[in-house]
Amino acid sequence: MARIAFIGLGHMGGGMAPNLAKAGHEVRAFDLSEEALSKACEQGCGRAGSTEEAVKDAEVVITMLPAAKHVLDVYRRQVFGNAPANALLIDCSTIDVASARTIEEEASAKGYEMVDAPVSGGIAAAAGGTLAFMVGGSDEGFAKAKPFIDPMAKAVIHAGGPGAGQAAKICNNMILGATMAVTCEGFVLAQKLGLDPQVFFDISSQASGQSWSMTSYCPVPGVGPKTPADNNYEGGFAAALMLKDLKLADEAAKSVGAYTPMGGEAEELYQRFVDRGGGNKDFSGIIKMIDDSWTVPDQH
Ligand code: NAD
Repeated sequence: MARIAFIGLGHMGGGMAPNLAKAGHEVRAFDLSEEALSKACEQGCGRAGSTEEAVKDAEVVITMLPAAKHVLDVYRRQVFGNAPANALLIDCSTIDVASARTIEEEASAKGYEMVDAPVSGGIAAAAGGTLAFMVGGSDEGFAKAKPFIDPMAKAVIHAGGPGAGQAAKICNNMILGATMAVTCEGFVLAQKLGLDPQVFFDISSQASGQSWSMTSYCPVPGVGPKTPADNNYEGGFAAALMLKDLKLADEAAKSVGAYTPMGGEAEELYQRFVDRGGGNKDFSGIIKMIDDSWTVPDQH
């Protein structure tokens, strides 16, 4: 069992860190939000007063932060130099490939082993320990990180070298954003053509229009398994974070000259949804904007 510092206890980290504690690790948690930190401590994590305190003597450091600027800042100012030289560093945040490679190079120059390990699966999977992890880093880094990732995961896949986990994550989420948008369009069109949404679901979920967005995360309330659609699009994966990932995919595509027009369309749609006040809604809530007869979500 290891001493693990866990930094960032929001929607995702707040579910993940307690699973490491349940697995028997000594988790020292820190978040700038007192509320988030207290929740994690109620579920078996130890309280640290700062990131520096959490990482001191840690064998493993795990971060789950909003975006690249937080990750770069936390590692450069608080983790490097404070965590022991043999600590293994695992960043689970979704950030751009270039920043992931930069921070991993900086870590390596200071003698640390570091991997990027972004996740897929959402809040329920974070709490349930059933996330899919895509890991970028050396073979050795992956082998070292896997046993610590396992209690939070249903699948842990080595995507390739440094940044490869982030590359896989943004390609996956570009597919997800475009697929969700077109699934919403399909349901809205079906309804306007006189089809019952449940009947359309029964057909398309067994036909070639089937996708995860339809069968696991249906954007129509009361159809398919329970999803954020059944909770007025609250909780789940915020549209603002989906927009962030689509922008990351767009930047990545430009950096290598890849043609991704569907990803671009999805980015434009999610930008419009966020501009209209949907940023805190679950990303499936974009169906409300696609169906002009539905109400646009309230601003939070
Ligand atoms: P969140 O905003 O709920 O949590 C981030 C936490 O980091 C917050 O509690 C915040 O207080 C804390 N934080 C920020 N700066 C900090 C600092 N300097 N020191 C300590 N704590 C700090 O975000 P989330 O939904 O948990 O997402 C985290 C990451 O996971 C993001 O990169 C996101 O894109 C990715 N992700 C989210 C989901 C999802 O469904 N929410 C799914 C897959 C991946």
